[in-house]
This record gives sequence, structure tokens and C-alpha cells, in this order.
Amino acid sequence: NESLLRVQDLCKAFAVGGSFLGGKKWLRAVDKVSLHVDRGETLGLVGESGSGKTTVGNLILRLLSPDSGAIVFEGVDMTRLAGSELVKARARMQVVFQDPQSSLDPRMTVGSIVSLPLKILGLAKGSALRERAASSLAEVGLGPECLDRYPHEFSGGQRQRIGLARALVASPAFVIMDEPTSALDVSVQAQILNLMGDLQSRHGHAYLFISHDLTVVRHVSHRIAVMYLGAIVETAPTQTLFDNPAHPYTRALLASVPVPDPRNRRNLALLTGDVPSPVDLPPGCRFHPRCPEALPQCASLDPPRVVLAPGHEVVCHLHQQNT
Ligand code: SF4
Repeated sequence: NESLLRVQDLCKAFAVGGSFLGGKKWLRAVDKVSLHVDRGETLGLVGESGSGKTTVGNLILRLLSPDSGAIVFEGVDMTRLAGSELVKARARMQVVFQDPQSSLDPRMTVGSIVSLPLKILGLAKGSALRERAASSLAEVGLGPECLDRYPHEFSGGQRQRIGLARALVASPAFVIMDEPTSALDVSVQAQILNLMGDLQSRHGHAYLFISHDLTVVRHVSHRIAVMYLGAIVETAPTQTLFDNPAHPYTRALLASVPVPDPRNRRNLALLTGDVPSPVDLPPGCRFHPRCPEALPQCASLDPPRVVLAPGHEVVCHLHQQNT
């Protein structure tokens, strides 16, 4: 079964510092990232700020061009597309950003904002734009009276509903949610997460859910990929990741999540030490300066990618291929 989206060895570096005399350094924001998202599923992409997770989202959306790697979406390599072909392929992909305040144009009415993807893609015009916007707003629990109002007249949670209505209006197969609830109160957060799930059951689209917050990611994801300093260090089905985390960084992240039942609390190492700079990545395993379980080889040898069980992969010297 071909995945909806398959990302292979994606790389992106940014030049930082330096002057006309040289001395430029390279920040490896995304380093050989591979992942897949199946139709109708949610993959959570979790990591601290600066881990590169948002850059991965922007590369998939082609808001940024990758240095190398493939992004195969519905069987087509997006990195080879340009112009109208790219616009057409992108029509099946949408995004909801973290900050609804800045991602919704304050000068546009909600009706124009929500129907914009249809207009850009030439999927509707005239009064059909307004009708489709109204039905998309109804899907997220907002009435037709919202069509002629402006984003500033709405609360943060309502603005994020408008962002979802805009994302879903053109019936995409895939939606990237980039920290969609981080700016919201906890109770509003839960409403938006539940709404996301309801909309997915109704329409069958897939999500890439990007967040620094494992609790939120757990709530919505079928599988989770953990990123650290530009690389994915572990991928697993959600329950497996929580029951049986294999990478010391995942264990540390889990240890920093409050656990409701103390009997389930594990004796896990807490994150210590500073996050190294992605400009000067440490040799060997990039987590070794902070890893409580580091082995002698971790400081010099790149760790292997090990498949522990179907769908459970880890990049760490602690594990051996189970063949
Ligand atoms: Fe820790 Fe070594 Fe595994 Fe890296 S490879 S996470 S340093 S044990």
C-alpha cells in the first residue's frame, strides 16, 4: 500500500553568521529526515523548539525548497514540480498555523479568507465561493453570520476554527497542523483537538501534527515521530512510544510529562545539560552530550537505525537489529 506522503532523506541547511570575508557556518535544520503518513491517519511530529519540526512542515508544503531528498505525495515527487503543476499538487495539502492572529489576514472578511483556497485553485467562483465557505464554517461549528465579519471580532479558539474551515474547504487529503493549539487555553485546546478528530472521521484526511507538547500529540496521533536537533530519533505507534520508549531522548521527554497515576511513573532520566547548537553538531550521536545512558562509542560513531518491531524504529547504539 503506497503511503499518502513519503518523505525520504530530506535535508535543509541555512547559512548563518559570516561576513563578505567568509566565515559562514551552516545550520543543519533538517538532516536526512524520512517519514511517511498514510491516508486518514495522524502522525505526530514532536520535539523541543529548534528541533527542525516546523522546517520539515514548511519543506513538505514547499514554502521552503529542500537541499536534497524526496517528498512523494500521492505518488508524485513534489520536489520536481514547479509552477501550475506544483499549485495543483499543493491543492491536496493545507496547513493550520500556530498563531491564528497572524495567519488570518485582518483586512479580509472571514468569508473571503475561508473561500480563498477555492479561488486560488479555481475550484469555485461567484456565489459558490460564499456557499462553500458557509458550509465549511458550519463544519467547524460557526454560523453563516460569521461570513461578513473580520478575524479580530473572534476569540483565539474561534479564529483557529476559521483556520480549520479554510484548510478543509477544498477537501484536502493532507493537513499540516503546526502547533495549532499552543496559543490557546487548555479547555479551548481540548475542543479544537476533538474537533480535529471529528473532522478527520468525517472526511478521512490525514494530519501531520507538529508540536512540542507530548501530551497534546498523544491525544491526537496514531503514530509519533520524535525529532532532536534536525533528525528523527524514534518513530512508533503512539501506545508503543508511551509504553516502551526506546530512545533515551524520548524517555527524557516522557519523564518531563506529568503522569496522572503515580503507579505508572517510570524511573526515567530527566533532560540535563544545554541543547547543543545545531550549527556545531556534536560528532557521533547528536544527543550524547545530554544522554544519561551514553556508551563510549556514542561520542564518535553515528548511531544505527534499528527496527525494533514493525513500525517501531530507533536511532541509537543501545539497540541491536532484532532479526
Ligand atoms: Fe544515548 Fe548513545 Fe543512544 Fe545517543 S546513541 S541516545 S548517546 S545511548
